[in-house]
Amino acid sequence: MADIIQLLPDHVANQIAAGEVVQRPASVVKELLENAIDAEATTIKLIVKDAGKTLIQVIDNGKGMSATDARLSFERHATSKIRSADDLFQLHTKGFRGEALASIAAIAHVELKTKQEADDVGNAILIEGSNVVSQDVVVTPKGTSIAVKNLFFNIPARRNFLKSNAVELRHIIDEFHRVALAHPSISFSMFNNGSETFNLPASNYRQRIVNIFGSKTNEKLVPVEETTEVLKISGFACKPEFAKKTRGEQYFFVNDRFIKSGYLNHAVASAFEGLLKSGMHPSYFLYLQVDPKTIDINIHPTKTEIKFDDEHTLYALLRSAVKHSLGQFNIAPVLDFERDPNLDTPYNYTKKEMATPPAIEVDRNFNPFKEHKASGRQTTAFKSQTPNNWDSLYVGLESKENELKHDFSEVHFESEEITPSIFQDDTQVEQVNTTFQFQNKYIVSTIKSGMVVIDQYRAHQRILYEDFLKSMTIKEGVSQQLLFPLELNFTTKEVEIIEQLKDDLQHAGFMFANISEESIAINGLPVNVPEADVSNILDYLISDIENEVPESNFSTTDLLAKSMAKSLAIKRGRTLQKDEQDYIVNSLFACKEPSVSPNNKATFITMDVDELDKKFI
Ligand code: ADP
Ligand code: MG
Repeated sequence: MADIIQLLPDHVANQIAAGEVVQRPASVVKELLENAIDAEATTIKLIVKDAGKTLIQVIDNGKGMSATDARLSFERHATSKIRSADDLFQLHTKGFRGEALASIAAIAHVELKTKQEADDVGNAILIEGSNVVSQDVVVTPKGTSIAVKNLFFNIPARRNFLKSNAVELRHIIDEFHRVALAHPSISFSMFNNGSETFNLPASNYRQRIVNIFGSKTNEKLVPVEETTEVLKISGFACKPEFAKKTRGEQYFFVNDRFIKSGYLNHAVASAFEGLLKSGMHPSYFLYLQVDPKTIDINIHPTKTEIKFDDEHTLYALLRSAVKHSLGQFNIAPVLDFERDPNLDTPYNYTKKEMATPPAIEVDRNFNPFKEHKASGRQTTAFKSQTPNNWDSLYVGLESKENELKHDFSEVHFESEEITPSIFQDDTQVEQVNTTFQFQNKYIVSTIKSGMVVIDQYRAHQRILYEDFLKSMTIKEGVSQQLLFPLELNFTTKEVEIIEQLKDDLQHAGFMFANISEESIAINGLPVNVPEADVSNILDYLISDIENEVPESNFSTTDLLAKSMAKSLAIKRGRTLQKDEQDYIVNSLFACKEPSVSPNNKATFITMDVDELDKKFI
């Protein structure tokens, strides 16, 4: 039989390799930024259009390439960074595979311009799908500019597989952050569709973090420092009171490279033990320096995972370093739910302070929409607590609460009143005969054929979800106007997400007085959303959106409705009054899809008389 094996042509091999290296526009961003860093650039500019689908360009002032190198750089396995396998064990560069440019050029239109310092003129190369279209001499500044256009132009399936611009842009920003956080001495800027989204001057680690995540971050950072023979740790952990419900800002860098490590994350989390309520995640920015010999970064093509020789020692060192820092800065004994909330200032009520006090009093009383006064005591420290925690925090604290009320007659905080506004008064329905609450989480009631057991949390989620969905679809969410705008602080990235959701939020009944880079001011809320819950709702929403919901069922309206329903629904563990139980039962069965929660979990089960009878045989 004839021989049938052939070597794949280079352009085919490159396309296949591209599948590994380039998953999405953000992968290109990472490779180009890393090349610029390897070229010892001190200023790096990233330009994207249409979330990188149309253009990704990185311009650096690094060492540039000679004419020959410029051409060679697009060959597979062409690298200036290693010469032998031994070099793999003492890597000081980001790249080493020599695959990135070849892969990118196989699936996009690439324009390279580069010049070395000593040369008078530079070189320009145009490549489309691995074919060199032109190579010319050009006048260009020292350094390199690589523009990657029309990504996946020759692989429509991959192009179609890309997510919405919002999602792809978030991935790009994530990569940009990771690289920028690892290299504070390099100045970075980023432009998206013509406008500057980040401008990060050369600075130090702390300043870089603050420049990215907002000025409020500064006070949250606790320095972590530890130097041992095998490892140098530096960086910051965030104070426990700023922990988040989602794994927001958790960054490990090993030898200036961002990595993901569940194991090391566990080490840090365990240092926070006893300081965080369950479900909360600490934020941290930790920089580890180890001997390159002791790690193997070769195990994953996109290189965010890493293998350490001695993980156990690392774990122990990291844990004790973080613990030590938290202790040293006197954080350990301060549990955020132990502090006296009356000493906290509410959000950021800057505008309130400008009003004269009597006006506040009078106007507040006349607000016809408020069924109870928002506690007004929630601070940014409390920002990320779930309503669930609010409930559980005050369970059994009635007496203390009364004391508080006594001492601070101005402060109205009745735990029982946190959610009642969601029970509309006009929904007293007669149909329900008997209901009782079981274990503070189920409502048991009778139906014709037998009995029904309802999960109160899921049922209420369903009710609220359908309500929100309805008002958003008909775009007529009813708003309650706030007398004073509620100002909330967010990171730039979070504000961007809110900006994207603005239309939907407005349809739901939110009204925005102002959205700036790091804060938003809200002057109207959906009627059944208590002011004190707004921060939680938005936190939930942002984290839901960040958790990359699959495109197919990615509808922001739906997500928003789900998210708000989840945060506002009465939680398990809450005692319900008779009218509240009735409200749940009746409203649930008035829903379009009463049998499942918005997340498709059963809201109730039934038991027929027959089934019961059988049990008594
Ligand atoms: P790797 O980074 O793994 O070496 P790449 O395909 O990313 O492989 O790049 C190939 C080569 O092209 C690099 O080794 C480097 O010599 C050169 N190169 C790429 N980008 C730049 C740049 N921005 N400035 C200077 N040289 C570059
Ligand atoms: Mg590279």
